[in-house]
This record gives sequence, C-alpha cells and structure tokens, in this order.
Amino acid sequence: MAEKIGLTTTIPVEIIYAAGDIPVDLNNIFITSDESQKLVEEAEYAGYPRNICGWIKGLYSTILESDDINKVIAVTQGDCTNTHALMETLEVQGVETIPFGYSYNQDAELLQLQIEKLMDYFKVSRKEVLEIKKQLDKVRENVHQIDRLTWTEDKVSGWENHLFLVNCSDFKRDFNKYNIEVEEFLETVKMREPFNERVRLGYIGVPPIINDLYDYVEKKDARIVFNEIQRQFSMPYETDSLIEQYIKYTYPYNVFVRLEDIKREIERRDLDGIIHYTQSFCFRQIEDLIFREELDIPLLTLEGDKPGDLDARSQMRLDSFIDMLK
Ligand code: SF4
Repeated sequence: MAEKIGLTTTIPVEIIYAAGDIPVDLNNIFITSDESQKLVEEAEYAGYPRNICGWIKGLYSTILESDDINKVIAVTQGDCTNTHALMETLEVQGVETIPFGYSYNQDAELLQLQIEKLMDYFKVSRKEVLEIKKQLDKVRENVHQIDRLTWTEDKVSGWENHLFLVNCSDFKRDFNKYNIEVEEFLETVKMREPFNERVRLGYIGVPPIINDLYDYVEKKDARIVFNEIQRQFSMPYETDSLIEQYIKYTYPYNVFVRLEDIKREIERRDLDGIIHYTQSFCFRQIEDLIFREELDIPLLTLEGDKPGDLDARSQMRLDSFIDMLK
C-alpha cells in the first residue's frame, strides 16, 4: 500500500513517486492549516524554545498531529540548520527519519551518492525514476507557463504565482491531479485582462509565513512578478538527468549560486525593487547583508515571525518602499 512520506523541503520527489508512495510537503500542510498559529504554540508547549523559527515549530506539530505520516525525509545539508534537532525530537516521538543531503558547493559526485542511497532505500531503479521525471517535467512545463504569464503578459497575480510554484515540491501529493488543476488555471488565465500595477517587485528568500503579503502589495499598486525560491521548487531549467536537475536547483547551495539566478531574473523581468523576506531566528537572515551588497536594485528586508497577517510596522515599511519606487 502507498505510504505517505513527509518532506520538510524539496528533495528528488521522483524517487518517492517511482516507489508508488505519496510525498507530502509538510510546509504546505502547516501553512494552509486554519490552526497554523496553534501548531506553533503546541511545539512551544512541548518545549521548543521561543527563539526558534516558526516554520520548524509548525512542522514539528504538523507531523505529530497527522495520523498517517510515520516517515520523514530529513535534509541534513542544504536546507536548515535546525533540521538535526527537529528530526531528533521527532525520532523520540517514534517518527522514522530518512537522511538525505545536498552538498554546499554543487558537488555532483556527492549528490549522485545521496540520490543512489535514497533510491536504494525506496528500492527503485534509475529507469523507473527517469520515467517519473519525464512525467513530472510535463507538469513543470505547464507551471513554467504560469510563471511566464506572470511577467511577460501580466496575467497572473503574485499569490497565484507563489502557490503554483511552491506546490511543485510534492505536486499536491498527486501529480496527475495537480496537472489538471494547472491546465484548468492556464485556460482561465488566458482569457483574463492583464494586471496593470505600476511597480514590479521580486520576492527573494524562504516562502513567507505571512498570509496577506501578496494581496497587500497589490492593493498598493505593485505586484510581485518573481518568486525566487518558489520558482526553484519548479525546477526551472531543462535537464536530462536527476543529477543535472538537482545541481541546477539553486536553493540548497551557497548564496552565490542563488545570486546569479536572482541577478538574471531582475534584468529579465524588469524589476523595480526586491523584497527580501527573512524569517525570525533563521540563519539565512545573515545573508541579507550579501544581498544588500551584491544587488544593484532597491531592496526592502521584511521579517516575519509567526503565521498571520502583516503587522502595522511591516505595512508602513511596505507603503514607504512602494511609494519610493513609484
Ligand atoms: S526559515 Fe530558516 S530556520 Fe526556518 S525552517 Fe526555513 S531555513 Fe530553517
């Protein structure tokens, strides 16, 4: 019987599908839950410190609250410095963790070894995995069309762009069904009149824990037409092998690999400014200083802590930033 496998970040999902199992991105379950705030609090009651990122606490409670996820893939290199402790606290609760690691510097040999170990664990062959890759690439190509329609024809909102890209981590647990949803969306979008906001923004950093950022920005006559990490989840480059695909995927590697991609998209999408989202208590906040140094474009750093709407201070900062760009 197909088993649900929890993911805390994007991994070679082809392997799970090839095994006939169901990948479940726990981030998406957590953030779309009506009780996401409560999930964070539950982790705090269990003993998670206040000064640990809200995503980690949300993931911990999400896994424990689910009745049917007993295995989680733990990305020990290339995602989050808190993963080790998260997995250890889950193991204590009886959840099995399956280790997987990217390398710091896009080392293809190391990645190959990790992919092979994961294939061994799930008992799948290279041929089976490549067959799934071909099928997933068709879905990805449709999602890339949504992304293109966002910035070339202005027919997709920032939130829609975010949602369709971010869901490529697990394809909403059923890639055929997800493809139908994507194709139906593409049909409706083509009939739309273009959006006409004056300011074109890029969003870089981990996906936001804040609910209303995209809507708020659009009310202020601006639109996010580039979602950096979310786009990476959709594997935006054409590739023939799993190794090539996950080497080109920028998120798990050092910040300079991401910078190259961001700079290219700033030009290509004709952006006026960048929002760099940082999560409270996340090690990636430190990278803000590199983005400020390296990106030649107005940049607003926006910090989020717990699930919920933008606070008044963040709203005011966004207002001033967008006014300045206008
Ligand atoms: S936001 Fe940062 S600290 Fe939180 S889960 Fe993501 S990488 Fe880890």
